[in-house]
Amino acid sequence: MFILGYLVIKFGFTNRFGGVSAGAYESLNLGEHVGDDLEKVRQNRDILRQNLGVKKLVFMEQIHSDKVEIFKDENLPPCDGIITNLKDVAICVMVADCMPILVAGKNSVAAVHAGRAGITKKILTKTLNLMAKEFSEFEFEIYVGPFIQGSCYEVNGLDLGEFNIYKNGKNFDMKKALEAEIKALKNYKFNKIEISNTCTHCNSEYFSYRRDGTTGRFCGYIYIS
Ligand SMILES: [Zn+2]
Repeated sequence: MFILGYLVIKFGFTNRFGGVSAGAYESLNLGEHVGDDLEKVRQNRDILRQNLGVKKLVFMEQIHSDKVEIFKDENLPPCDGIITNLKDVAICVMVADCMPILVAGKNSVAAVHAGRAGITKKILTKTLNLMAKEFSEFEFEIYVGPFIQGSCYEVNGLDLGEFNIYKNGKNFDMKKALEAEIKALKNYKFNKIEISNTCTHCNSEYFSYRRDGTTGRFCGYIYIS
């Protein structure tokens, strides 16, 4: 006989508050690659881990690609999407204007980094397809945290190919592009799609690379508890 277990999935987004970094990185900077004191970043990550009460946080070495990896408690190659079915392991996507996308399936979770590159390479579709293949997922909930929006995200004359239809004058509407990408996925059921209306560039509670240049990274995290 089968006894079906129900997983409890928890997720959220940090802001720039509650950490120990100073100056441009004040204060909960989670990025190791942005010029901050690495010891402070380590402390910040540990503050987050303790707050969540998880065994481990896993961060990606993000490279603006469409590479998606499954985390199996070993070293992770550079990638922009991470999937796991392990319990008590919070997978994290770092951002400061890009979209932090979190995906909850029935047996697994994913964290995805999607800026202009990730959106135009359809990294979310690749992530969901890999979750379907590896973990038999077909129903999802999608949560997207704060990212750069509206007139704040200028791409000027950049040719985005088939994505030019999501350009509005000088601006690229990543939200519209992502919504269209999700809508095209007819084989999957989306029980919830929540996309933040908060613009990182407008809201000083979040790090914004376009606004500040030298700055920290906040994150989206998701885990099975
Ligand atoms: Zn804005």
